[in-house]
Order: sequence, then C-alpha cells, then structure tokens
Amino acid sequence: MKHTSNSSVAQLSELLLQRYKHIIGDQHGPDLTVEQIVERIISYYESIISCMPGNVYWLETTGHGIGCNKNVLDMFGFSSMSQFTGMSFEEMGQTGHWDPRTTQSFKNDTLEVVTTKKPKLHVQEPPIPHVDGGQIFFLTNRVPLFDDKNNVIGVVGISTDVTELKNTQNELKEAKEQAEAASQAKSEFLENMSHDVKTPLAGIIGTSELLSYRLEGDNRELAETLLLSGRQLFTFIENCLEVAKLENRNIPLPPEHFQFRAVLEEIAQLFLPAVKTKGLSFTVDYDDNIPDYLLGSRAGTYRVLLNLVGNAVKFTSSGHISIRAKLNKRPNDREAIVTLTVEDTGIGIPKDKQKKIFERFSRLTPSYKGTFEGSGIGLYIVQKFVNSMHGEIYIESEEGKGSQFKVVIPYMIPLLNNEENIDTTHSTIFRYESNKRDIPANDMLNNESAKLVLLVEDNLIAQRMESTLLESINCQVDIVDSGENAIKSCETNHYDIIFLDIGLPGMQGDEVAKALRKLEGDSHQHTPIIALTAHVSDDAREKYLESGMNDVYSKPLSREQAIHILNKYCSD
Ligand code: ADP
Repeated sequence: MKHTSNSSVAQLSELLLQRYKHIIGDQHGPDLTVEQIVERIISYYESIISCMPGNVYWLETTGHGIGCNKNVLDMFGFSSMSQFTGMSFEEMGQTGHWDPRTTQSFKNDTLEVVTTKKPKLHVQEPPIPHVDGGQIFFLTNRVPLFDDKNNVIGVVGISTDVTELKNTQNELKEAKEQAEAASQAKSEFLENMSHDVKTPLAGIIGTSELLSYRLEGDNRELAETLLLSGRQLFTFIENCLEVAKLENRNIPLPPEHFQFRAVLEEIAQLFLPAVKTKGLSFTVDYDDNIPDYLLGSRAGTYRVLLNLVGNAVKFTSSGHISIRAKLNKRPNDREAIVTLTVEDTGIGIPKDKQKKIFERFSRLTPSYKGTFEGSGIGLYIVQKFVNSMHGEIYIESEEGKGSQFKVVIPYMIPLLNNEENIDTTHSTIFRYESNKRDIPANDMLNNESAKLVLLVEDNLIAQRMESTLLESINCQVDIVDSGENAIKSCETNHYDIIFLDIGLPGMQGDEVAKALRKLEGDSHQHTPIIALTAHVSDDAREKYLESGMNDVYSKPLSREQAIHILNKYCSD
C-alpha cells in the first residue's frame, strides 16, 4: 500500500515537474517534495495575479470572498489574505464604508453571473469611498468559474480603477454644459438686443417711408436716403442674428410637398424690379422633366435661390442674369436630383478666392472699399442650407466675366404627383429683356372704399407708425395694446382686417388668434388676421398659421406690403 502511495506521489511530482518546468526549473526540480512543487506553482500564479492592475478577486457562488490580489487587500487595509477569505458582501461594505445600495448592487451583479452562467462585462460601478477621502470609480468585468461538469463554482471579478477617466469625463461634461450655457446666453442676448434695436429701427424705417410719400423735392430725397439706410441696417442686424442662430444648431428643414416651378416664379418676381432698375436681362429656364411637385424643403430651396440670385443682381452691372433648373438624374420613381444654376455676367470671383467666400463674414470687396453692400454671410448661409438638404454646391467664375453657382439637390418625388400634361421639353418660364417695361408697380389699392382696421400693438412707436401708414392708404384704424383688449373690441365691432403684433404682453399672438376665431364661432364672419412680428422663423410661421392667422409679415410693414395685404384680403 505504502509502496503504491509512494510511487503515485513520485508520479505526481514527475507530472508537475514536466508540466510546470518553466516555473520550477530543471535544476532543483528533482530535489523538491511534491508539497514544495505545489507551493511554488501557487506562489507563481499568486504573484502574477498580484501584479495585475486593478482589483482581482474570486468569490464563492454565495458571494463570499475566496481570494484576491494585493490591490484588494490594500483597499481594505488588510495585511493577509485570510482577512478577505470568507468575507460576505455586507462585511466588505462595512469595512470599505460603502453605501448599502452600492453593496447590494455588487452582490446582485455577482449573483446574476452565478444564475445566468454568463459574464457581466464593462459595468460602470457606483463610486465607493477612497481612503484619502475622495471617491473611486471602477469598471468591472465579472466572469463565472466552472468545474469540469459545467457547474458554476464561483465568480472572478476584475475591477479597473477609472476614477481619473471619470473625473476627466465629468470635467468635460461640465465644461460642455458651461459652454452651452454661455452660448445660449449669447444667443438670448443677441436675440433680445436685436429685438430691442429692431423695434425702434422699424419705427425709423416706417416713418421715413411715410415721409418720403408726403414730402416733395429735396426733402423727399432726404427721407428716401433715411429709408434706405434704415433698411440696410435692418438687414444687417437680421443677418447677424441669423448667423448667431445657425452657429448653435443645424437648420431643421422639414420636408414638404411643394410646387417647384412656383418657387422659381416667386424668386423671378421678387428680383424683377431690381433687375429692371439695373437694366439687365433676366431669364428663368425650367426643365419640364422635373416632376410638378417635389418632396423636400421649399424654404431651403427658396433661401438658396434668394441669396444666390441676390448676389448675382448685386454684383452685375450689365449683361444678364439667368436661373436654370434642370433634372439632373431620376435614379428611381421616388427620387429626383435637380441642378439649379444661377449665372451672371458680373464682376466674377478670382480662382484663389472661390473657397474663401463661403466663410462667414468673408467679402472680397469690403464696405470700406465702397461699391457693394453686404455682410459676407449670404454664401455661408447658402452652404448651411445646401448641407442640410444633403446637396452640393459648385462655383465657376472668371474675374471680370461673370460667375456661375451650381447647386445640386436631391429631392423625393411624392407618391401622389399629378404628372399629366407634361411635355418633355424645357421651357423658359420667365423672360425679361432689359428694354421692356411691362410690370405694373404694386402701389395701387384695388378698392378705394375705406377699411376698418384693428391694430393690436403695444409699442407706442410702432402704433403710431403703423396706424399712420394704414391711414395713408384709406384705412380707419382702431388701436388696442393687448390681446385681451383686442377680443373685447371684436365683441362689439366688425373689422375688415386685424393686424396683430406677436410679442404682446399677456396673451401671446397665437392665443389671441385662437380666441378671435373661437369668437367668430360658426358665423360666416371670417376677419383676416395678419401677424406682424420682429422676426419670424419657419416653425413660428407654421404655428401662427395653425392658430388661425391668415398671413405673417416681418416688421416694419412697408406701404407696398400694406397695399398688397389689403388688395389680397379686403377686395370685397
Ligand atoms: P455678401 O454678398 O453679403 O457680401 P456673401 O456671403 O453672399 O456676402 O458673398 C461673399 C462674397 O462673395 C461677396 O462679398 C462677394 O465678394 C463674393 N460674391 C458672391 N457672389 C458673387 C457673385 N455672383 N459675383 C461676384 N462676387 C460674388
């Protein structure tokens, strides 16, 4: 028996010496007892574990400690492993002064690994107190330990100290929040400031416009200069505000169904007076292969054209301006890629400056060099809009000869698209030859009968300016300074039209509009309500129209706009 036992110990020694040769070494192996060999192997592995970074520990399936590396012993202030062995989570929590919820979370995660037999990795642990008084954050991986029959016999945990990373993350988060708050404050300041500047400026513009109608000769010219300067300053402030807004967010451009051709026609009409004044020719070519209706951003398309055509007119003193819309590709039944080209025979842009002009506030002919007005943000805005529509913009230009801006925009084709009557040619939908004078100015009232107008406005300057303007075009104006008073007035009077300021004290413009529509109830009466506002975004415009208003205009209201509104809404 003894002989057998001795021989199996010898066999075991031999086996261990063979297998762990790299640990024990060839030289001393044969002199060692089996206990010494096992001891060397264990201490070898323990030293590997102890030099592992982070906390390494292995626990029973109940969560009680079996063993750990030196970092864990140090963390608890233990000098020997025996102090850790057999410890429950509750005891660890007490020793380490953990929050009871943290202790419970450690225990739950460990038991979960036992029950599911699956590792639980990359757990960001709640912080635990550090001996130096601070907090320590761990990122933990817990892995089940199996016996040869695939039963879970314990859990190994490896917790890495990520305190420094976490602190950096928190600092970054804090810095980001501070930066966002500062940027928000800047935007709010700009918005308030621009509102405060724009309101009196609107008064100056409106009053000078009225004066320019009342005065004659030199005095009229002076009033017109005042009006022009006011308008320039107004546009500049609006541009600055827009850039400040664009810096903080992407432009939301919700897709809508819109008639593409109508946008081009609108742009053409808008620029016709300026083109005529400068004696330029103007054509708008439209490719009839473009589906009638497109699904995309109407506002974005309009804005891009507005700025590009505006520049073309501004930087061209002779020759022509042309806008071309062409179906570039129709990859399938649902998509249409359209190229919009705006071409002019103006001053052109040198090759080496063609990238720079898309930077904000970049102008090749700054104000102090005279000649052209501008703030250098038009193309920056165009670029932003084009990006938001997932489009591309290209420029070809030669100094002294002219410029061509090409914008390629992918649109969707609506499922319901009336494509009847399409002849597949391309047509000129608009042409103006520089020597013709065929468009009547929009400064005549269609109907001369006096209109009763309710003006809802709290600002005294605006009240005076708008009422004088309306009176000058044959309106009788009642003025109230709040939404509440507007409702009272409408209970007893029937107005032909209501001009409603949006930024009122008390009830807001959209609430007032809803209340007025409610007041009309089922009666057939429907008084047009026109919103007047210092600045209107596309989303705000939608909101106002939904509340029951008929139209939205930016202040200051010009005489031409007022006539247009009366012609449109009060022509009997
Ligand atoms: P702004 O026109 O208000 O100065 P933009 O950002 O629209 O600002 O244009 C930046 C600059 O690019 C202009 O100041 C001008 O120098 C140049 N530029 C833009 N469009 C044209 C054009 N069609 N022809 C010549 N130069 C142009």
